[in-house]
Formats: sequence, C-alpha cells, structure tokens
Amino acid sequence: HADTAMYRAKEKGRNNFQFFTAELNALITQRLELENKLRRALERQQFELHYQPRIDMQSRKIVAAEALIRWQVSEHEIVPPSRFIPIAEEIGLIAPIGKWVLRTACEQNKAWQDAGIPPFVMSVNVSARQFRQENFVQIVADVLRETALDACYLEIELTESAVMHDAEQFIAMLGELNDLGVQIALDDFGTGYSSLSYLKRLPVDRLKVDRSFVQDIATDADDATIVRTIVALGHNLGLKVVAEGVENEQQLEFLRDNQCDELQGYYFAKPMSASDFAHAVFGSTE
Ligand code: C2E
Ligand code: MG
Ligand code: MG
Ligand code: MG
Repeated sequence: HADTAMYRAKEKGRNNFQFFTAELNALITQRLELENKLRRALERQQFELHYQPRIDMQSRKIVAAEALIRWQVSEHEIVPPSRFIPIAEEIGLIAPIGKWVLRTACEQNKAWQDAGIPPFVMSVNVSARQFRQENFVQIVADVLRETALDACYLEIELTESAVMHDAEQFIAMLGELNDLGVQIALDDFGTGYSSLSYLKRLPVDRLKVDRSFVQDIATDADDATIVRTIVALGHNLGLKVVAEGVENEQQLEFLRDNQCDELQGYYFAKPMSASDFAHAVFGSTE
C-alpha cells in the first residue's frame, strides 16, 4: 500500500525520493488497472457466487447457505472479495455489483426450491455503502418479486459498523426489511462497537460471532469468555447466535457446550460453486 511505500521511503532516508516515486507509481498504476478491470467485470460476467452451508447445532441439518462473491479476472487469477469490495465501494460500483449478488443468490435459491430440495435460507452480504443507498429496501423488494423467492428464505448480513452509524434512519430501514419478511444477521459480531441499548432496538434475527473469536476458543480463556458472553447476550435478546469459521472438533464441542445455535466453517464445508454445493449437499449435479 501507499502508506507502506511512504514508510519504507522514510526508513531509507530523506534523499531516496527516486525509490519512493518509483514504488508509489507502480502502486498507483496497479490500483488504476484493477479499478478499470473492476468496471468491466460485470458486463464480462466475471463474477460468480460460491455458497457455504450453515448448520443447525441440534439437527445438524443445513438451515442456510451464505453467498460469497468470487471475481475471476482471468483464467488463473481470482481476486478475493476482501480486496475488491472496498474498491467497489470507493468507486461507486457496489450498487450494481450488490444488486447482481442479491438477484443471483435469490434466483439460485428459488431454482433449488423448484428442483424439490428442502428449502433453506440464503444469506447475502451487504456492505455499508450498499445498505445506505436510498432505495436499498426497494431493491430487495423488487428482487424478491422478480425472482419469486419467498422473503422468509432471504437473510441480509450487515456488519455492526454498517448499522451503528446514523442510528435512526437505519433502524427504520431494518424495520422495513423485517416487514417484508426478510431476516437480518449482524456479521462479524464483536469486532465493532455496538452499544447494547442500541442493539436492543434493532430488529435483527441473528448474531454471527466473528471468526477471530472462534479460532482459539478452545485454548484462549479470553476468547472463550467473549463467545459465551455473545451467546448469552444474543439469547437474552431473543436472537440466534451463529459461529463463523468453525474448523475443528474442539471448537465445535465448546460451541455445543455453550449453546451456540448454528455453525459455519471449513469443518463442515468450504464455500462451493453452485453445482458443487448441489452435488455435495443434495447429491444432484445442479
Ligand atoms: P464474511 O461475510 O464474514 O464471510 C466469511 C468469510 O470467512 C468468507 O471469506 C469465508 O470463505 C471465510 N470462511 C468461512 N469458513 C471459514 C473457516 O472455517 N476458516 C477460515 N479461515 N475462513 C472461513 P470470503 O469469501 O473471502 O469473504 C470475505 C468477506 O468479503 C466476507 O466476510 C464479506 O464481508 C465480504 N463478501 C463476500 N462476498 C460478498 C458479497 O457478495 N457482497 C459484499 N458486500 N461483501 C462480500
Ligand atoms: Mg457474511
Ligand atoms: Mg424478523
Ligand atoms: Mg463474518
């Protein structure tokens, strides 16, 4: 990043402007190239959704799938969402990309239901900028109508920071989504700065405990306490609690012993293409 370049340039001394300029120029060029490719990615159909199952602790059945975007820039290059979603937000592309994600995820869920698969919830990530579009609720309503998916099979995942900011307006929007029948989850829970009195007023259905707390749950006493506290908090507010990033048996045991409701992670399955998901989960090819 540019900051790193600047820092390194400083480290090398004041009279190393040449190094600084060259490295910074290369970074700027790289970034502009990525932006240009991103602007064309939708029309070139380079995006794909992968789906990761979410499992109910009690029944051990799939109760949901999280849709996760992938960008296939070229045959051998996949750019992860952590790299391009922030850029898409910055350059004003998150609205069209986000709409594509929402529509594709709803269409896929409806197609699986029509194929006779037991219905489950499709969970879609929505970034802060996307949620703050004036017509976001209308877009969700339109996509549900156009895809004929019943609203109860759609869940929107928002991070704490996306909704904490500018409270009243977002509480109202969450209320409208809730009125449509859409479910709402707070993603990466515990990493933001939710005020508890505010949380109480949010019409959300689930808290998704951030993966960073789940990772060392079996060995780190602080993480264990944090997760127990989030489960208790969620249950006291009448919400379900989901653990993200479950990778092993020890984590699973801890989460079971501490009444976590739902689980997601590599221990069960990695995110998969639609056809791999259908094959792995229902034993069909599509
Ligand atoms: P997230 O919503 O918290 O998604 C969970 C991330 O953790 C995903 O990374 C998933 O592949 C990964 N993961 C799941 N289980 C495990 C595990 O057991 N171990 C480890 N190490 N990782 C696990 P991914 O797909 O790279 O997505 C990263 C983030 O990008 C997402 O975090 C979400 O914030 C964002 N994102 C992904 N798809 C979309 C999208 O369609 N729209 C928007 N706005 N954001 C998206
Ligand atoms: Mg998510
Ligand atoms: Mg509700
Ligand atoms: Mg998360």
